[in-house]
Amino acid sequence: MTGAVLSYSESPDLAGEVAAAGQEVAKMLGAEAVSLELDEVSPGLLTANKVVLVKGELPLEAIADSAAAGILELVKARGFGALLIAETRFGTIVAAKVAARLRVGSLGKGKKLRVDEGRLVIERDVYGGRFTATVASRLPCVAVVQAGAYEAADASPGPAESVAVTVGEPKVAITQTKQGQQGEAGIKSALKIVSAGRGFARKEDLVIAQDLASALGASLGCSRPLSSDLGWMGEEAHIGLTGAYVHPQLYVAIGISGQLQHVAGIKDSKVIVAINKDAHAPIFQVADYGIVGDLYEVVPALTKALKQG
Ligand SMILES: Cc1cc2nc3c(=O)[nH]c(=O)nc-3n(C[C@H](O)[C@H](O)[C@H](O)COP(=O)(O)OP(=O)(O)OC[C@H]3O[C@@H](n4cnc5c(N)ncnc54)[C@H](O)[C@@H]3O)c2cc1C
Repeated sequence: MTGAVLSYSESPDLAGEVAAAGQEVAKMLGAEAVSLELDEVSPGLLTANKVVLVKGELPLEAIADSAAAGILELVKARGFGALLIAETRFGTIVAAKVAARLRVGSLGKGKKLRVDEGRLVIERDVYGGRFTATVASRLPCVAVVQAGAYEAADASPGPAESVAVTVGEPKVAITQTKQGQQGEAGIKSALKIVSAGRGFARKEDLVIAQDLASALGASLGCSRPLSSDLGWMGEEAHIGLTGAYVHPQLYVAIGISGQLQHVAGIKDSKVIVAINKDAHAPIFQVADYGIVGDLYEVVPALTKALKQG
């Protein structure tokens, strides 16, 4: 029988999703599905039929090296069929480290997982979503599951088993932590997103987008220039090919032109609303609803109307 299918995310928001992926793959393999939690117990958040708590002396959650070492110790002792890790910056690093140290296949990030002739197969968007790449690896292997690809499994805590691991001193140390505007997982799992683009003339004007987001109960995202070039927003808010892939029920793009690289990250949104003063902006080609107008007039009017109920 194939070893257990392990799932892990350091983010409580994504743990249920990756657990669901693990359960599905485990079913295909006729293997056991096991959710890993490192160091901390939060049974209410876990959904797998079995939970293994990996206990270490070092801050396993904080340092990718330590998290990878914790998982390595566990799989060396018990073996595994596949290890699925939810897509965050931290999770992607952990996945690469575990795969490299075990010298097993690493499928990278993808949306759909299946088992084909004893191999794990993952599908992912490439070239901004124009093509789908199918990548396969012999088992055991490691894969990164894109946020939003699976519906989180029901939140019913399973029986927990604690496993103590010995993790060596990490080579890196955390010298400072800074609170971001919102967690990386926050934007990825948000049901509503209001996103700001280069149509905003000044950083201070982003309050217009924030007001609309508050009225809608939405998270605030942005196009890449606002985070990477201008530094007006944190990197965790940047959506698109090189940022977060999002899949909200509602995505409101304000002053965003809709270049391929941005659209790649939003095309799984259920409803896209675009506000742009250029009627020919490419964003209108993917939008379900479009408002052609100046954001400085349209957005405050929308917010006012929403607040008035
Ligand atoms: C390798 C690579 C990766 C990239 N990855 C990403 C990525 O992940 N995410 C991403 O977003 N970009 C990415 N980019 C950049 C991308 O190509 C675009 O440059 C970027 O998305 C443009 O951002 P924008 O739409 O905010 O700005 P612009 O393209 O400058 O568009 C601004 C829009 O605002 C409108 N506007 C201006 N003033 C107003 C107003 N007052 N009212 C209403 N509308 C107004 C304009 O009509 C225009 O359509 C990447 C680029 C490269 C080369």
